[in-house]
Amino acid sequence: MDILDEFKFSFEGDVSDESWIKEYYSVDSSSHQIYPELVCFPKEEDDIKVSLSFAAKNGLSISCRGAGTSLLGQSLSNGIVLDFTKYMNKILELDLQSNTVSVQPGIVKGLLDKELRKHNKFLPPNPASSNYCTIGGMVSNNSSGPYGLGYGSILRYLQHVDFVYPNGENGFAENSVCDDRLKKILLPLFSIYDKIPPLYPNVSKNSCGYRLDSVFNPAFSPQNLFAASEGTLAIFNSLKLTIIDLPVFRSLFIVYFPNILKACIYSNKILSTRPVALELLDASVMDSSIKSATANHNGCLLFIEYFYQYRSQINSIFELLKNAIGSEGKVLEHAHDVDSINKLWSSRKNALNMAIRYTVGNRKPFTIFEDTAVSVSHLYEYVTYILTLYKEYNLSYVMYGHLGNGNLHTRPIVSDDGYSDNQLHSKQTMILDNITHLIFSKIREYKGTITAEHGDGISRTPYIKNVYNSFILSYFKYIKKSFDPLNILNPGKIIL
Ligand SMILES: Cc1cc2nc3c(=O)[nH]c(=O)nc-3n(C[C@H](O)[C@H](O)[C@H](O)COP(=O)(O)OP(=O)(O)OC[C@H]3O[C@@H](n4cnc5c(N)ncnc54)[C@H](O)[C@@H]3O)c2cc1C
Repeated sequence: MDILDEFKFSFEGDVSDESWIKEYYSVDSSSHQIYPELVCFPKEEDDIKVSLSFAAKNGLSISCRGAGTSLLGQSLSNGIVLDFTKYMNKILELDLQSNTVSVQPGIVKGLLDKELRKHNKFLPPNPASSNYCTIGGMVSNNSSGPYGLGYGSILRYLQHVDFVYPNGENGFAENSVCDDRLKKILLPLFSIYDKIPPLYPNVSKNSCGYRLDSVFNPAFSPQNLFAASEGTLAIFNSLKLTIIDLPVFRSLFIVYFPNILKACIYSNKILSTRPVALELLDASVMDSSIKSATANHNGCLLFIEYFYQYRSQINSIFELLKNAIGSEGKVLEHAHDVDSINKLWSSRKNALNMAIRYTVGNRKPFTIFEDTAVSVSHLYEYVTYILTLYKEYNLSYVMYGHLGNGNLHTRPIVSDDGYSDNQLHSKQTMILDNITHLIFSKIREYKGTITAEHGDGISRTPYIKNVYNSFILSYFKYIKKSFDPLNILNPGKIIL
C-alpha cells in the first residue's frame, strides 16, 4: 500500500484528489487561486489527527475550510484542504439553562439560527453571508455584520474551544482555564497583559492579527486567542457559544441622506439613540427600486434598527430618530414586523454581491483596504480623505457597510478605458499601491484597523505591520511558533 492509500485507509471521512474537486477548492470568495493536493472531509476528531500526521510526514500544509466565503484567501492551500461542512456540521448540545450552544465547526450559521429561533434564541453576529458561512469560519475570522454595533463580534460569544494542536495533541480553552500546554504558551503574556490593550487599535471591532488584547481583558479568557486566528494555530473540533433571547420588538428605519459625508456628520447623533445596527449603502450598491425613489446619484441610505422591550416604546424611538437626523435626513421606509424587516434587510445583504458585479471582465476587485475601521469620532475626516483620493485618481467607487462601527467597506472601480490587459494591470497596481499606502497611513494616524471583520488572509497579511508595533508582532510570531513549529497550518496567513 502506498503512503496515500494508507492515509485514505486510516481516514474515516472522504479523501479526494480528483481534478474537478481540486479545481473547486482552488478558489474561495477572494481573487486568489491555489490548487490543493488533496481535499478531505473529516468525520471525527481522529480524522483531523490523521491528516495532521500525514501533512507533517509529507511536508504538506493544511487549510481548514467552512463555506469558503472569506474574501482574502484564508481557506486556500497548496497542500490539504479540510472541509468541515460535509460531516462535522452538527449541533452537539443546546443548553437553554446556561444559554449556550455547542457545535461542530462546519455548521452553517443560517441553519443554527433556524434551530435557535425555535427556542426564541439567537447568536447576534450575523454576516451578510450567514446563509452559507460556518461557525468555524466565523470564529476564525472574528466575523460580525450589522449587529456588530449593538452586540459586538463573535469573539464576545466564544465560551469554549476544543481543538487539536498541529502535532495531534488535544487542547481546550474556556473562561479562566485551558490545557497545560496553552497555559505554558500564554505564560510570558501574563507579566505584560496590561501593556497589550493600549497597543491595539482604538475601534469597536478588529480582526487584524491575533487578538492578544482580548485574552486578559477583562478576565483571563484563553479561548479568545482563537477568534481571528484564521486557522493558523489549531484545528477546532467543537465550539461552545453564548446565545441570547430574541428581541421582543424590533423596528427598522431606512433613512435617506443626500450624500455619504452628511450621513457621517449625523452618525454620532443617531448613535445616541442607541440603535443595534447603523448601516450605510451608497447609490452604487442600492437596489434599483430604492435608487429610483431617491433621485440623487450621490445619495445614500442608512439602515437603522432598534430592539426594544415594550410596544409603547416605538413612538418615542421614532421621535428620537427624527430629531437625530434633523431636516437633512428623510425616513423613506419603516418596518416593525419580522417579515417586513427581513425583506428590507435583504437589499443591504446584497451589497457585496452588487459591489462584486462592478468587477466584471478584466477588472480586478480591490480588496486590500475594503474593511478598514476607525473610531466614529474620526469617521467624517477619514471618509473625506478617501473620497478626495478617489477624486484625485478619477475613480468611481462603492462604499457601504457598518457606519456605526466606523467600518465602511469601499472599493475603487478601475474602468478599462480601452486599455490592454497588461496596461490595465499596471494601472491598477500603481493605483492600488499608492492608495493603499495613503489609506493605511491614515489608519495608523487614527489608531484604526486595516480589517474590522474580514480578516488578513493572503492579501492583507503583508500590511499587518501598519497596525501593530514590533513588540506586539514579536508576540504574534512567538504564539504561532509555539503552536505550530513546523508551520503546517495555513502558512502565509497572519504570519509571513
Ligand atoms: C457576500 C459576502 C458577504 C459577507 N458579509 C460579511 C459580513 O457582513 N460580516 C463579516 O464579518 N464577514 C462577511 N463576509 C466574510 C465571510 O463570509 C466571513 O468571514 C465568514 O465568517 C467566513 O466563514 P466561512 O465558513 O466561509 O469560512 P472560510 O472562508 O471557509 O474559512 C475562514 C477561516 O476559518 C478557518 N477555519 C474554518 N474551519 C476551521 C476549523 N475547524 N478550525 C480552524 N480554523 C477553521 C479557515 O482556515 C479560514 O482561515 C462576507 C463574505 C461574502 C462572500
